[in-house]
Amino acid sequence: MDSLTKSAASRLLFTDDYKNAPYWQDDAEDLNIPTHDLPADADVVIIGSGYTGLHTALQTIAAGRSTVLIDSGEIGHGCSTRNGGQISPGIDPSESTLAKTYGLEKARRLRQEGENALSWIESFVAQESIECNFERNGLFHAAHTPTHYDQMCREIEHLNKTENVEAFAVPIEDLRTELGTDTYYGGVVFTKHAAIHATKYHQGLVKKALAAGVTLISQCQATSVIRHTEKSSNQFSITTAKGIIKSRDVMIATNGYTGQLTPWFSRRVIPIGSYVIATEALPIELVDELFPSRRVVTDSCKVVYYYRTSPDRTRILFGGRVSANETDPTVSAPRLHEQMVRIFPQLIDSKISHSWTGTVGYTFDTMPHTGVHNGLHYAMGYCGSGIAMASYLGMRAGQKIIGDPAGVTAFDNLPFPTRPLYRGNPWFLPAAVSWYAAKDKMESKLAAYSASRGKIA
Ligand SMILES: Cc1cc2nc3c(=O)[nH]c(=O)nc-3n(C[C@H](O)[C@H](O)[C@H](O)COP(=O)(O)OP(=O)(O)OC[C@H]3O[C@@H](n4cnc5c(N)ncnc54)[C@H](O)[C@@H]3O)c2cc1C
Repeated sequence: MDSLTKSAASRLLFTDDYKNAPYWQDDAEDLNIPTHDLPADADVVIIGSGYTGLHTALQTIAAGRSTVLIDSGEIGHGCSTRNGGQISPGIDPSESTLAKTYGLEKARRLRQEGENALSWIESFVAQESIECNFERNGLFHAAHTPTHYDQMCREIEHLNKTENVEAFAVPIEDLRTELGTDTYYGGVVFTKHAAIHATKYHQGLVKKALAAGVTLISQCQATSVIRHTEKSSNQFSITTAKGIIKSRDVMIATNGYTGQLTPWFSRRVIPIGSYVIATEALPIELVDELFPSRRVVTDSCKVVYYYRTSPDRTRILFGGRVSANETDPTVSAPRLHEQMVRIFPQLIDSKISHSWTGTVGYTFDTMPHTGVHNGLHYAMGYCGSGIAMASYLGMRAGQKIIGDPAGVTAFDNLPFPTRPLYRGNPWFLPAAVSWYAAKDKMESKLAAYSASRGKIA
């Protein structure tokens, strides 16, 4: 196909009312956030208006600390209104991997924090009556090859015994009880995972923060943070696009958008774009066939795909990384559609109504990090699983700022690794993504070939 025909074919994939914006935004309320000049000082200044920053703010304001929360874009400009809405415990390394570095007892405490975050967010949204379609129906983790399926079965046997994870295997014969596809080789169900409406949750937090008296200031990029050495109750000066503000405490809640404002953090966080599409509204029979179990889904590819239905079960939200370099949502959309149709051929004629991207914050040890560095409080590096963890660590950081010992977590002040020559620009990413995507494709082909010959790959 020449490039002109290709682009015409791509255009046919989009609905007439296609939006280059998150699907979640269609349900956003107009919050009428009052506009403020930047105050001259505050007890606490929080940089970043996602789940991390808002949860920190809710704690500090409740303790009577004047709190100003700023963002370089609109309030909620970052991942917290752009994610896939799948809630996991958010700790990637296994207990045994962590034990090699930290010892078994600490490894268990770190893993436990993932569970703590998940249960905490559930009780938070219930207690605070935040209407955000929170549902705990579990996750189906689909096996991309028979070898992955075997590995998964071994892992869950161990996890069920040692970490009370509650997972069970779904063999290939039963795949259609979980997903309307024949692409996978079975998978496992993790029963505790949950789903949420990203923007309704974020807006619920914004409303709470406003009601409690937090000052929210958008379009207010912080460009420098200086810590004064002389004794003063306001030890920090923060220069922003809207002037200078002094404060006693500063919270860095910039995650995947961490930049040269804080070079030490920027050397430790790897910004990676993730991409999502939403389909047009589909017939309910089709949605029921594709997603009979109401669970959210990921697969075992190294370059992972994650997907689910919209909370009202009218659409499919399908996400992943489909480009070695960062790209535009209009470019990622047809590629995501192609991958979606590879898994669900039934969606070949379904159009794309929304496509969007956001920047997740990875770390070199694939762990979230929190603590205090040079007097700056921080929580970041959720490695693409931050809905529960950002909320939880943001809340704990707020407790630490007000001097509440409950704020200390197992993550506090873990070594936060960087790499030589890394300054915040992940120059190695395109090569890594290309390599892993090629490996996923090769494994998939090999598995299909072996299956066709009646062998196990
Ligand atoms: C496409 C996508 C899908 C995802 N899917 C999932 C999922 O299914 N499940 C899950 O758990 N997680 C998912 N995530 C990750 C999750 O959304 C994040 O981990 C979480 O929202 C992080 O929240 P945060 O508050 O730390 O950061 P963010 O919400 O990203 O907020 C950081 C803010 O800092 C601001 N900022 C940066 N620098 C400055 C500055 N100098 N001055 C002022 N403001 C600044 C930015 O503008 C931004 O608004 C996904 C992310 C993306 C992008």
